[in-house]
Amino acid sequence: MQKMILIPIFRIICALMTNPLSIDNYQRPRLDVPDNACKVLLHSCCAPCSGEVIEAIQASGVEQTVFFYNPNIHPIKEYEIRKDENKRFCDKLNIPFIDADYDMDNWFERVKGLENEPERGERCTVCFDMRFERTALFAHENNFSVISSSLGISRWKDMNQINGCGERAADRYEDVTYWTYNWRKMGGAPRMVELSKKENFYQQEYCGCVYSLRDTNHWRMQHNRPRIKRGVKFYGLEQQEIDIKNVE
Ligand code: SF4
Repeated sequence: MQKMILIPIFRIICALMTNPLSIDNYQRPRLDVPDNACKVLLHSCCAPCSGEVIEAIQASGVEQTVFFYNPNIHPIKEYEIRKDENKRFCDKLNIPFIDADYDMDNWFERVKGLENEPERGERCTVCFDMRFERTALFAHENNFSVISSSLGISRWKDMNQINGCGERAADRYEDVTYWTYNWRKMGGAPRMVELSKKENFYQQEYCGCVYSLRDTNHWRMQHNRPRIKRGVKFYGLEQQEIDIKNVE
């Protein structure tokens, strides 16, 4: 009887230990870029979301440039941390990194009247529109025919909403296409976390804008959880701290 229980448990443990979708085991497929383009302009929201996407594109032998345009991120200190983390990873892989404007005033102007919208609501559509419009413009002016974004890899986001905004921005230019690839599929979402731990990326705890910070803190207080502490949490380091304490 005991043996009957132990064998399936052992099999599950073995399967978990040899996860074929983990970074070390996964055989990345060659991705089909729209129109067989040989380069992509990737809008990036942050290092944790874009890390997996950057590696997937790189493994396909496709040239890429990372475009960091996120005037939604608030306050500026948080913006600088997220940007620097993203640049650090791009520098490591020798990938060009475009540091676009932080035109925060324009962002606040565009979302005026939408301050109390929930996440994934109308304010987010306007926010994505603004970020993708600038990405598409840069692509048009700098000879990129394909753009995409790391935003859709997060399970907190609505893929249809993001793809709709991306396509709308690209439609402004005849020579630009938005690549609606689902970066979450084939284990992309768990690999994103795995890679973030490997690289010790900064772990932000809210989407980015001052309203998402407000709403996340509100939810936390309602659930007896502490308010967000910005700039202190990094993927993979909690376990290291526990290990250090155990050694001491
Ligand atoms: S919640 Fe996120 S996507 Fe929505 S408006 Fe704020 S920063 Fe932009």
